[in-house]
Amino acid sequence: MNQELILENLNGFEFEELIADIFRKKGFKNVVVTPRTNDGGKDITMDEVTFSGEVIKVVVECKHHKTRIGRPVVQKLHSAVSTLEYSGKKKGYIVSSSTFTDSAVDYVQIVNKQSDDLILELIDGKKLKEITCDLGINLKNGVIEALSNKSISYSSELVIKTNILEYNFNNINNINKDQVSVENLKTTFHPIYYINYDIDSQCSTSVGVIHEETGDGQLIIDGRTGNGLEKKLMNFLLKNINNENKITKGNCLQYKLDFQKNENELKNRAISEIINSHTKDITYTGKNNVTYNKTCTPSPKDIIIHNCKSLYYPEWTLSIKAKQKNYIVSFAESAGDIFTVRNDTKTCQICNHKLEKNKWYCTYCGSIICKKHLKVTRLRKVKICANCSITKSFFGAKKYFESNEELEAFNNYYTSLPIYKKIGENPYLVCSIVFMIIIGLYFLF
Ligand SMILES: [Zn+2]
Ligand SMILES: [Zn+2]
Repeated sequence: MNQELILENLNGFEFEELIADIFRKKGFKNVVVTPRTNDGGKDITMDEVTFSGEVIKVVVECKHHKTRIGRPVVQKLHSAVSTLEYSGKKKGYIVSSSTFTDSAVDYVQIVNKQSDDLILELIDGKKLKEITCDLGINLKNGVIEALSNKSISYSSELVIKTNILEYNFNNINNINKDQVSVENLKTTFHPIYYINYDIDSQCSTSVGVIHEETGDGQLIIDGRTGNGLEKKLMNFLLKNINNENKITKGNCLQYKLDFQKNENELKNRAISEIINSHTKDITYTGKNNVTYNKTCTPSPKDIIIHNCKSLYYPEWTLSIKAKQKNYIVSFAESAGDIFTVRNDTKTCQICNHKLEKNKWYCTYCGSIICKKHLKVTRLRKVKICANCSITKSFFGAKKYFESNEELEAFNNYYTSLPIYKKIGENPYLVCSIVFMIIIGLYFLF
C-alpha cells in the first residue's frame, strides 16, 4: 500500500473528486465532476469504452453518508440516466461509503432485468475499499471498519533484533550471536477490540432469586472476525492493555491489518461474548419440591461498560540466517514481553525434537541440532551435524569426517598403523579386552 486515506476526513465534494479519480484510474474516459449546484442526481458523468469500441454513457451519484442508502436515491438516479439524451447504452452508478437497503438492491435488480441498454450498479463501502485497494490506495472507512492508530506498546526494531539473537543463539554451546544475522524483520499489527465491564445480573423464578452473576471483567475480541481471542494470547495482552504506543512507520516491512467490523459491531459482539460467558444452567427446587433446570442469561442492561477501545497488538517475524539455514522466529509483543508463535531455533533440524538447554550448531550448514545429532570429526575435532558428516567404521567404532578427502587421508594413515594402534581406535573394545584379561587372570590365579 503506498497511500492510506481516511474517508472520514473527506467532505462530500472531496469524496466526489476521489470517486472521479478512481474511475479515471479504472480506465473510464471523459470523467467530469458536475458543478455542485443542482446536479439533478448526476455527480459525475463519464464514458466507458468497451473492447469493441462501443461507448457507454455513465452517470455516477456519490453518497458520502453514514446511514444506509434507500430506494428513493436509486429511483432518482434511474430517472437521471433515463432522461440522458443518448441513443446508445447507458449506465448508472451509486457509490456510497455506507451500505444499501434491501429495497434499494431489489429496485436495481428489477431495472436491470428490463433492458440491457440501461444498467444500474451499486458500489457500497466494502466494495469501494476493494476497488481502491486494487489501485494501491488503502481506504480507511469508519462506517465499515473501526479506525485506530494505537498499538499495545512495542519495542524498537534494534532492540528486537539484538534481544532475539541474544535470547536464541547465545545459549547454543558452540556458537555466539555474532555468527548469525537477521535477514528480514517484519511487524504485523493485528486489530483487536478491548472491553472492561461490570456485571450485575439476577435470575429469578417464582421461588425468588436462584442465581446471581456479579463482578467485573475484561475481554479482547479479534477485530477481523469479532470472535474472542485465544485465552492464552488474551491473558498475555491484557497485562499491558493500557500501555499504548502510536503506530509509527519503521524501516522494516510493516503491515497493519484492517478491522473488518466497525466500532458498533465490535461492541455488540463483545457484549454477546460477555453474555455467553456469564450464562449458566441452574438447577433449583420449586415450591412443589420438584427439581427444575433453568438457563440464566444476563441481559445487556446488566452490563456496565467502563472502557472500550479499538487498537492493535504487534506481531514480529524475524528471519535469521545462519550459514545455509534460515530460522523463522515470530511472536506477539506486549510492552517488552513476548508470546511465541513460532521458533525454529527450538527444534533439532534433523529429528525435530524440542530443544531447551542443550543445543548445538553445525559449523558446516548452520543447523541447530540435539546432542544425538552432533558429530565431532576424527581429525580436526570439528563439530558438525549428522547430515554433513561422512561416517566410516574403524575396528568396529564409527568415525566422522568432514569430506571424502579427509576420510581418504585417515584411511591411509590407519592402514599404516600396527595392529595394537588400530585396536586403539575403538576405546570401548580396548576397555572390554582389558576387563576380560583382568577377569581371566583373576580366575587363573
Ligand atoms: Zn536431533
Ligand atoms: Zn550440517
